[in-house]
Amino acid sequence: METKYIFVTGGVVSSLGKGIISASIGKLLQARGYKVTIQKFDPYINIDPGTLNPYEHGECYVTEDGFETDLDLGHYERFTGIHTTRNNSITTGRIYKTVIDRERRGDYLGKTIQVVPHITDEIKRCMLREDEKEEQLDFVITEVGGTIGDIESAPFMEAIRQLRWQLGRNAVCVHLTYVPYLKAANELKTKPTQHSVKELQGMGIQPDILVLRTERHLDDSLRMKVASFCNVDLECVVQSEDMPSIFEVPVNMQRQGLDAAILRKIGIPVGETPAMKPWHDFLDKQRNARREVHIALVGKYDLQDAYKSIRESLNLAGIYNDVKAKLHFVNSEEITRENVAAKLEGMQGVVICPGFGQRGIEGKIIAAGHTRSNDIPTFGICLGMQMMVIEFARNVLGYADANSSEMDAKTPHNVIDMMEEQKSITQMGGTMRLGAYECELVKGSRACDAYGNETLIRERHRHRYEFNSRYQEEFEKAGMKCVGFNPASRLVEIVELPGKRWYIGTQFHPEYSSTVLHPHPLFMSFIKSCL
Ligand code: GLN
Repeated sequence: METKYIFVTGGVVSSLGKGIISASIGKLLQARGYKVTIQKFDPYINIDPGTLNPYEHGECYVTEDGFETDLDLGHYERFTGIHTTRNNSITTGRIYKTVIDRERRGDYLGKTIQVVPHITDEIKRCMLREDEKEEQLDFVITEVGGTIGDIESAPFMEAIRQLRWQLGRNAVCVHLTYVPYLKAANELKTKPTQHSVKELQGMGIQPDILVLRTERHLDDSLRMKVASFCNVDLECVVQSEDMPSIFEVPVNMQRQGLDAAILRKIGIPVGETPAMKPWHDFLDKQRNARREVHIALVGKYDLQDAYKSIRESLNLAGIYNDVKAKLHFVNSEEITRENVAAKLEGMQGVVICPGFGQRGIEGKIIAAGHTRSNDIPTFGICLGMQMMVIEFARNVLGYADANSSEMDAKTPHNVIDMMEEQKSITQMGGTMRLGAYECELVKGSRACDAYGNETLIRERHRHRYEFNSRYQEEFEKAGMKCVGFNPASRLVEIVELPGKRWYIGTQFHPEYSSTVLHPHPLFMSFIKSCL
């Protein structure tokens, strides 16, 4: 089968959940046996989101091949289990950089370089994944960030318009809009949707399918109205009501025939509706999980999206342990020795979150000390693991000035130190140790046990600093064991306190590889020990 292309755009307002809809479409097509990928095109100028503050854009998600991407790629991977790559996350900045670099090399032979056709051609090349050497895909789903009418997304829309023309029936446009409910009038309003579709039509794009986001159920007459004003078939107007969980969305979309509508538009026989048994089993587990487990997230970003993948990994591991994970954000900047017990009261487990820079680290160290002394299950991730190490050095080894050279370049006890390969790097952006590396686990360790006695694993990274191996012997003698190593560099990837209920720190980010159907073994084992 020739590759088909689905374009997902959004109108009216942002934050409608285009990422979830794109991931759901991916899931539904996959369930029908198709080979699918999902990619995100973001209109901002940054080359990638790696340099963005989490307050700006939420978490930075890391692909296996070591690219820093938008957090929507996390949804794509969690829903579908596919592995995305650097070619699944494209920004305006990257498009322009490629074109400008080409121009500097003289590749355009003296031509005037313009948004149309040069920028739009490069966008089209990326949308068609011409650089990706992968097996042929049945479907490529392309989500465009931002909202119709944004100045910066215009070149993406023009590229979609051209591709639509070029690809004919092999392309489908799905447009996501919002139908607000006006309380005073007791009415649902379709006008914003009509305007949004007009705007899209003004750019030469006729949507094939409309997904209406709504807080209240839309009846057929309202869907009919939208269909007739927007030139869309009634069966292609789908509603996406607020759901108790994002994982209900694919099933809700399937019930309304979103995948069937896509196939019909393309001209593929629809066939039977797939049962999606594993997914339904998961949803049943989620609905039946009543008991709660209270987990603190000790971090500095009081923003839902900042630790998105960690939150989702805890949620998923909770569901598979038949409990609801109640996550409590605890701002590490506000933690002191005096209030730490009160701040973490009632918590059955604590995650010390990743991060960069000085702000809030003393609170993380205090929290790690509190949970160590009180034997509360603790999971340190990346910077979190580094803070566990520093806490141990200060309070067990007795090095009061122990630190990471990230925070104090001159500390005499740099138990966390900059990686050798990082010392010569001056540029920011894509220069950390990124992506998946192998890790050898020490047999008999708690971590190895959590991985089901597997001894070689692969996990994703995003860091510049590492455990300083000069201290390994001293740590081990005092009880903190190094139980995961990179086979090539011997870099310490996991530390643990074997005597505790669960006290493990990982230099890597296991949260990036948890999926709905395969919760991550470390999160599973962590939640189990919290119960
Ligand atoms: N700032 C630390 C480092 O660069 C940890 C990074 C992280 O938590 N992702 O090593």
